[in-house]
Amino acid sequence: MENLKGTIFDVRRFATHDGGGIRTTVFFKGCQLLCAWCHNPEGISTKRRALYFDKKCIHCGSCVKNSKCGGMTFQDEKIVLDHTKSEDWDELIQICPTGAIAWDSREIDVYKLFGEVMSDAPFFKYDGGVTLSGGEPLLQPDFAGQLLKLLQDRGIHTAIETALLVPIENLKKVLPYLNHIFADCKIFDESEHIRATKVSNKLIIQNLEYLLTSDKKRDVVIRTPMIPEYTATEKNVAEIAKFISGIFPEVNYEILNYNPLALAKYHLVGREFCFKENPKRFSKEQMNHFAEIAHSNGVRNVFIDE
Ligand code: SF4
Repeated sequence: MENLKGTIFDVRRFATHDGGGIRTTVFFKGCQLLCAWCHNPEGISTKRRALYFDKKCIHCGSCVKNSKCGGMTFQDEKIVLDHTKSEDWDELIQICPTGAIAWDSREIDVYKLFGEVMSDAPFFKYDGGVTLSGGEPLLQPDFAGQLLKLLQDRGIHTAIETALLVPIENLKKVLPYLNHIFADCKIFDESEHIRATKVSNKLIIQNLEYLLTSDKKRDVVIRTPMIPEYTATEKNVAEIAKFISGIFPEVNYEILNYNPLALAKYHLVGREFCFKENPKRFSKEQMNHFAEIAHSNGVRNVFIDE
C-alpha cells in the first residue's frame, strides 16, 4: 500500500462527542465552506500557515531581528505576524524561545498517523474508535481512505464528520471504510446557505441524497448545528426535516446546541467573528421546540446534543 501524505491540524484524544465511546479525533486541514460561525477557523485554509500566540510571547524581538521579508514586525510596540510574506517560517519558529510562533498544521504520512492513533487503541475497546473531522476530511479522500482501511483492518471502529461539499467520487472512495457518518445539513434554502457560508448547497444536497439511499443509510446521522440568526430558525429545521425524511423516513437527525467557544481563535487567523457578542446556548425548552418541529415534519428519530 502506498504511503500517502496528508495535512492535519490536530489530533485530540479522549473525545466523547465525535461518535460512540472514547475516541481519538483527527482534524484534516482545508474546507470549502466559509461558515460565518466556524469553530475551527484555523482549519479552513488548505495551506499551512504560521500563527502567532501573543500570550506566549515575551517580546524578546528575536523574530523581528531575524525576519528577512517583513513576516514579523514591531507595530505600535506589538509583534505582528504577516503570513502573506514569503518568510523562512521554519527558521523563525526555531528561533522563538517560547513557542509563540508555530505552524497551524503538519504534513504527515499515513503510516505515521496510523501509529499515532493506534497508541490510543487500549481505550477504543469500550465502544470507542477513531473519528476524522476538520476542516473537511473528504478533501483528502485517498489519504483518509487509506487511514480508515488500516484502522478497519485492525478492527477499530471508524467515523467521520463531514460537511459533504466535495465531488461525489471523494465520498464514494471513503464510504466503504466507515462505520458511522455524521453529515452536516446546515441550511436548506440555497440563498440563505450562500449568505451564511459563501457557497451554494447544491452539491451538499446531492451528496445527502446519495448517502440516504446508499446501503450505509442506517449508519448516517444528519446534523444541524443550531446557530442563532443563521441555522436556528423554525423554517430551516422544518425544511431540512421534510427533505431528509422524504428520502429515508428512518433517518437519524441530530440538532446540536450552539457552542460559544470559538471567539478566541479568530484573531489568530485574522478573521472577523460573525457575532459582536457571543450568543448564549439555547435552553432545554428551545432545543426541545426545534426537535418537535423536526418530528412534526416527518423525522421519527430526532436527537438533541446539549
Ligand atoms: S521570538 Fe517569540 S517570544 Fe520573541 S518576540 Fe518573537 S514571538 Fe515573541
